[in-house]
Amino acid sequence: MTTTSLSANELVLRQRRFFRTGETKSLAYRVDALKRLRLGIEKHQQRILDALRADLNKSEAEAYHTEIRLVLGELDYTLERLEQWMAPRVVPTSDQIPDGTSTIHPEPYGVTLVIAPWNYPFQLAFSPVVGAISAGNTVVLKPSELTPNVSKVSADLVRDCFPDEFVAVMEGEVQTSTELLREKFDYIFFTGSTPVGKVVMRAAAENLTPTTLELGGKSPAIVHKDANLKKAAQSLVRGKFLNAGQTCVAPDYLLVHEDVREALLEEIGLEIASKHGEDVMQNTDFPHIVNGKNFDRLSRFLNDGEVLLGGRSDREQLMIEPTLLQGIDWDSPVMQEEIFGPILPVMTYSDLDEVLEKIVDRPKPLALYLFTNDQAVQDLVLGTVSFGGGCVNETLLHMSSHELPFGGVGESGMGSYHGKQSFETFSHHKSILVRSV
Ligand code: NAD
Repeated sequence: MTTTSLSANELVLRQRRFFRTGETKSLAYRVDALKRLRLGIEKHQQRILDALRADLNKSEAEAYHTEIRLVLGELDYTLERLEQWMAPRVVPTSDQIPDGTSTIHPEPYGVTLVIAPWNYPFQLAFSPVVGAISAGNTVVLKPSELTPNVSKVSADLVRDCFPDEFVAVMEGEVQTSTELLREKFDYIFFTGSTPVGKVVMRAAAENLTPTTLELGGKSPAIVHKDANLKKAAQSLVRGKFLNAGQTCVAPDYLLVHEDVREALLEEIGLEIASKHGEDVMQNTDFPHIVNGKNFDRLSRFLNDGEVLLGGRSDREQLMIEPTLLQGIDWDSPVMQEEIFGPILPVMTYSDLDEVLEKIVDRPKPLALYLFTNDQAVQDLVLGTVSFGGGCVNETLLHMSSHELPFGGVGESGMGSYHGKQSFETFSHHKSILVRSV
């Protein structure tokens, strides 16, 4: 199924022909396109919110703040600075070439492919699109089939704003991605799971296409004994249960110093009740699990260890309440894969070095969250563990800053974006040395 009537091959050819006209390269064209996208989002805002409610039961407030607002913010930030980013940068030339001038020219790659996941199906589709357009590329966007309402409104929005020779949406299932990946793109930007990231990279290798992979993994949260427990609990509950835990940078599991375990868990229990209600199963705004397959996968974890808090679920509603598990160790099933749901395993520690060794032994996480005001502990953790990005005494917020490049490392991904970094990611940097004759 496609929203353009073209095949992947025809679409890419058409975009390549258009790219070669050079139209997308001017500042005026890029600014106009970004403004059109902004207006389109505003026009379709209610439909986007309704689609997010239908696909994931996101409340309007959650959907607006975690999806639409972030994309509008990227657009505004980019529009204000694009001219400056596009300017060639003059850099020093070696003393041996006194008549030389050296410059770096950011230029678009050409025809780009953006493949998006379902968990923030609007934001994670359109933030990369902003970057691709700002850098002067054409874009084919493939939304996730697991959020069909958002996929449909994304296609309508793009069709409203752009001709398909410039930006087009190809809706569809895995087969559609597979067809697209057979084509030669000039850049591929993929957000999704680590196994599919490998499929994308293998396909990209055929054409030596540069690729950004925004993947997942198990992101630890560490609460040290000196932490402000109330603030840590607030931040952990927000970070873990936003979108019912279906957030790539959600704290996946909790490591708490044994001295503060009881007090922290009590604060977490109070915070869940205050934020999501005494009986979360009755909270009609708590997001749902995306489908039955993921619900069943998560339900199996509910039998891992012992339920400390929560534990109820309803398959018909695709609802799992915020749940804390204890009696978990590093070998437990729930510790072997990214959870991606509202289930938080809790482990205690007394020796921080031992914990860091365990984390370093595993694939590099996408995020890490540390709660402590002890500078030596911060230095130790940040200096020992390699991870994509993260926060101290907070969760998630590093990813909402335009100034902080966002991305993973190792199995959690490669490359980064947001703010200026999106423009850089979607640009080739052409180095030119000019001599006077
Ligand atoms: P997924 O990898 O299953 O799917 C992502 C996209 O790839 C979808 O559009 C899908 O149609 C397509 N796809 C699926 N299988 C494919 C295949 N075999 N060949 C080609 N394309 C294929 O991921 P998902 O379930 O949509 O998202 C969840 C995962 O994404 C989690 O692991 C999460 O951590 C990760 N994620 C990462 C980030 C990030 O920014 N790093 C953000 C959100 C989600």
